[in-house]
Amino acid sequence: MKIWADYHTHTRYSHGIGTIEENVKAAIKKGLRTIGISEHGPGNIGLSIKLEDFYKMRQEIEVLKSKYRDIQILLGCEANVVSLDGDLDIPDDVLAILDYTMVGLHPLIWPHSLKDGISLLFENILARVVKSSGLLKKVMKQNTLALIRAISKNKVDIITHPGLHLPIDTAELAQAAAQYGTALEINAGHGYMTKEYVKIAKAQGAKFAIGSDAHHPKNVGNFKRALEIAKEVGLNKNDIINAE
Ligand SMILES: [Zn+2]
Ligand SMILES: [Zn+2]
Repeated sequence: MKIWADYHTHTRYSHGIGTIEENVKAAIKKGLRTIGISEHGPGNIGLSIKLEDFYKMRQEIEVLKSKYRDIQILLGCEANVVSLDGDLDIPDDVLAILDYTMVGLHPLIWPHSLKDGISLLFENILARVVKSSGLLKKVMKQNTLALIRAISKNKVDIITHPGLHLPIDTAELAQAAAQYGTALEINAGHGYMTKEYVKIAKAQGAKFAIGSDAHHPKNVGNFKRALEIAKEVGLNKNDIINAE
């Protein structure tokens, strides 16, 4: 099984190290047919991505496309869910200039409202600190619902690193992901992914995407850990949208 596309890569537009061109060159070196640039939306606290940067990246990619004709270069994103209603931190007019949309939950975000901040930010932090099973259950339910609403309201291609930092109900999310045609990522970069997660999601009929989450060009196309999990669980190329 071979992965032919890396949809999850960062550059120095957010907190990555390399340029778009360096990620493209690294992808060519690794033999990928498609490279995606997927910066965080502006909702991440501490990451100074501005919405107008997506327009700059679009222009930069159009120039690179004529320079590197042997690889498909795509512009995507890793949007944040910023409300319990599933609102994203990237508006529709910006999503419209992108080639694909990825969405992920991140622990430090600028919430839509005070209520959303309490649910998605404060209670998640509190649940981790006090380790109360009642609160954990509550945040898991809220996190899962916010993601499900996000993929029901928006055309989302991939959910990045489900369950990283913020707990989710894998079976419930996977069922919705299968329904809305959204792939769940097996993230090769964070090292928290388990076989159990993949098994539960597969049983619900979900499809997967393998992503490097590279923050440095040298990690573009580095899928080692994710591929190991996929093999151990017995996934085949039909289960993974970027495998052949
Ligand atoms: Zn992320
Ligand atoms: Zn990422």
